[in-house]
Amino acid sequence: MAAGSQGSDGVERRGLMFVLSSPSGAGKTTLSRMLMKEVPDLQMSVSVTTRPMRPGEVEGKDYFFIDQKRFDEMAAKGDLLEWAPVFGKSYGTPRAPVETALAAGRDVLFDIDWQGTQQLREKAGPDVVSVFILPPSAADLEKRLHTRAQDSEEVIRGRMARASHEMSHWAEYDYIVVNQNVDDAFAEVQSILKAERLKRARRTGLTGFVRNLQRQLEK
Ligand code: 5GP
Repeated sequence: MAAGSQGSDGVERRGLMFVLSSPSGAGKTTLSRMLMKEVPDLQMSVSVTTRPMRPGEVEGKDYFFIDQKRFDEMAAKGDLLEWAPVFGKSYGTPRAPVETALAAGRDVLFDIDWQGTQQLREKAGPDVVSVFILPPSAADLEKRLHTRAQDSEEVIRGRMARASHEMSHWAEYDYIVVNQNVDDAFAEVQSILKAERLKRARRTGLTGFVRNLQRQLEK
């Protein structure tokens, strides 16, 4: 599904779908923001959700906040690339922006859970590169959930209980990053994306590029 785009060396390549998953509080949102700021040709996929907006969140930037009726309509019309229930609410990835970005030669970054990652993999196979972010300890996860001060005590308890279940899916991911220190974790995630962009199978322009080199050498 990914169209051609130019790598920094000018060799055409297929776009990729870069997925970050983790239990909430493991630092995935911070890492996503850092990637969006630092990495060229990367576009964030903004999901739709039926959960209420949290303090500090922005409509259209963090999520598109919609009701269940609209969500069901989008799913029924095929407007969602994947969707799943999380914490009793519905979350889904709008299809059109992803297809537009890939066609324009940009990679797409997804902050979605393991259920969505499985669906993307079924649909887009080798174009998907998935990274699971683990917290260094349970105490660290709890501290981060409290520090971001967005959720009630009850919601935090629910998220802690669910974290163990979410983590059980780590082995379905291509890469695992332990977020002990955000700068190190960011460097690791960035290296994964850089290496994946250079994979031979994605670099559709290599045959022509090498042929051209050979022609020049044989002159
Ligand atoms: P939160 O409510 O904390 O923003 O997100 C809860 C969980 O839902 C996170 O694990 C996040 O990755 C996941 N999520 C967000 N958007 C989507 C989506 O479009 N699809 C799926 N499958 N999961 C999502």
